Amino acid sequence: MYLPQEIIRKKRDGEVLTAEEINFFIQGVAKDTISEGQIAAFAMTIFFNEMTMQERIALTCAMRDSGMVIDWSHMNFTGPIVDKHSTGGVGDVTSLMLGAMVAACGGFVPMISGRGLGHTGGTLDKLESIPGYNIMPSNEVFGGVTKEAGVAIIGQTGNLAPADKRVYATRDITATVDNISLITASILSKKLAAGLDSLVMDVKVGSGAFMPTYEASEELAQSIVAVANGAGTTTTAILTDMNQVLASSAGNAVEVREAVQFLTGEKNSRGEVRNPRLLDVTITLCAEMLVLGKLADNTEQAHQQLQAVLDDGSAAQCFGKMVAGLGGPQDFIQNYDAYLPKADIIKPVFAKFDGDKKVATVTAMDTRAIGMAVVSMGGGRKVASDPIDYAVGFDQFIRLGETVDEQTPLAMIHARTEEQWQQAADELQQAITVSDEVYVPTPNIYRQIRAQDLS
Ligand code: URA
Repeated sequence: MYLPQEIIRKKRDGEVLTAEEINFFIQGVAKDTISEGQIAAFAMTIFFNEMTMQERIALTCAMRDSGMVIDWSHMNFTGPIVDKHSTGGVGDVTSLMLGAMVAACGGFVPMISGRGLGHTGGTLDKLESIPGYNIMPSNEVFGGVTKEAGVAIIGQTGNLAPADKRVYATRDITATVDNISLITASILSKKLAAGLDSLVMDVKVGSGAFMPTYEASEELAQSIVAVANGAGTTTTAILTDMNQVLASSAGNAVEVREAVQFLTGEKNSRGEVRNPRLLDVTITLCAEMLVLGKLADNTEQAHQQLQAVLDDGSAAQCFGKMVAGLGGPQDFIQNYDAYLPKADIIKPVFAKFDGDKKVATVTAMDTRAIGMAVVSMGGGRKVASDPIDYAVGFDQFIRLGETVDEQTPLAMIHARTEEQWQQAADELQQAITVSDEVYVPTPNIYRQIRAQDLS
C-alpha cells in the first residue's frame, strides 16, 4: 500500500519512482481517489525533476491501461494496424490523405484524432465540415468501417486513457503542460490505447510547432520513440517542417477540399496537382507506416506503392468509403464541392510594401499567428464550447522563397463578412514577412528517428 503524498515527496526529492508507485498513483487518478491538488503537485515535481525513460514508460503504460485498450484480434484484419500522430500544425491536412493511402496499400488505420488545440487545426473539425460525418460512432461501426475502408478517423471516446484526461486538465491550469515526460506519456497513452501494431509520430519543427526550438522538438521525438518502443509499440518519429503553412489552404472545408483534390489528382487552389511540400511530408510519413507494417521492404518500394494508389484512384476510393461508412455522402469524392460549406466573401490579400519597390521575396511566416487568424475568423475555438465556422480560412497560400508583387496574392481569404475579411487580411500581412533578404530554405523533412537510432 502506498500513500500519494509519499510518492510525491519521493519525486520531489529527486528519487526515481518504481513502476508500482506510478501505477498506484495513476489508478488513483482514474478512480478519483487522488485529488486535483495531488495531481498538480505530482505534475510539478515531474516538471522540475523530469523522469527517467523507465519512469516515462511506466507512466505511459499506467495511463494507457487506465481505461479501455482496444483489442482488434476478433476483427481478423488482413494487414497490420498502423497509425500516425502529429504534434499539430497549420494547414496540416496529412491525416486525411495518409489514412486512405496506407489503407489502399493494405494497412488498417483506426485513427483516433483530436480537435483543434490553440493555433493548430484539428482533424475532427475538418471532417465535421462534411455533412453527416459522424466522429463518434459505436465501437462496432468504428471497427466495421476500418475493416471495409481500411481507415476510419473518429474522436476519442470517454473511456480511452481517462487518467490522461484528468492529468491534462490539471496540467492546463497549473503551468505544467510544457514538459517532455508529461507530453510523451499524454500523447502516447491515448494512441497506444487504440491497439496499434505500429505508430509514426510527426513531430513538427518551426514557427508553427508546439515545441519552441528544433532541439526541443528533437528531444520530444527521441522521448516518444524510446517510450513507445519500450511500451511495446514499434514507433518511428519524423521531424517535419512547420515554418510555413503545410498545405495550400488553412481552415476546415478548404483543407478537406484540398485533401480530396490531392487524392484524385485534381488541381488545387494554386492550379497544381498536389502541393509538393504536402506530398513530400505525406509520402514520407506513409512510407514509414508501410515499412513498419511490413507492407514494403524499404522506403523506395513504399514510395512506388503510394504513388500507384494515388495514380489508380484506389486511395481516393478508400477515403470515399470511409466518409460514406461514417454517415457522410455516398458520392462525396465525386461531388465534394456541392457538399462543403463556402464562405460568402472569397477575395485575395496582397503584401504591403514599404517604399517604392513593389516586388519582394517571402522570407518568413509566423505560422502560429496564421493559425490564430483562422481561429479569429471562427475556424477554431477560443473556448471549448465555441461553435466552428467550417467555411472560413485561406487557400492559394503563398510559400516561403516565392516572389510577390502587387498582383500576386499572399492568399485568398474565405470570410463571412467584410469586417472579418479585413481583420484576417491585416493579420496575414503582419504574419508574412516580405523583404529583399536572401531566403535560406529549410528542409521539409529534418530527420527520422527509429528505435535502432537511439543509443
Ligand atoms: N497533446 C497531448 O495530447 N498532450 C500533451 O501533453 C500535449 C499535446
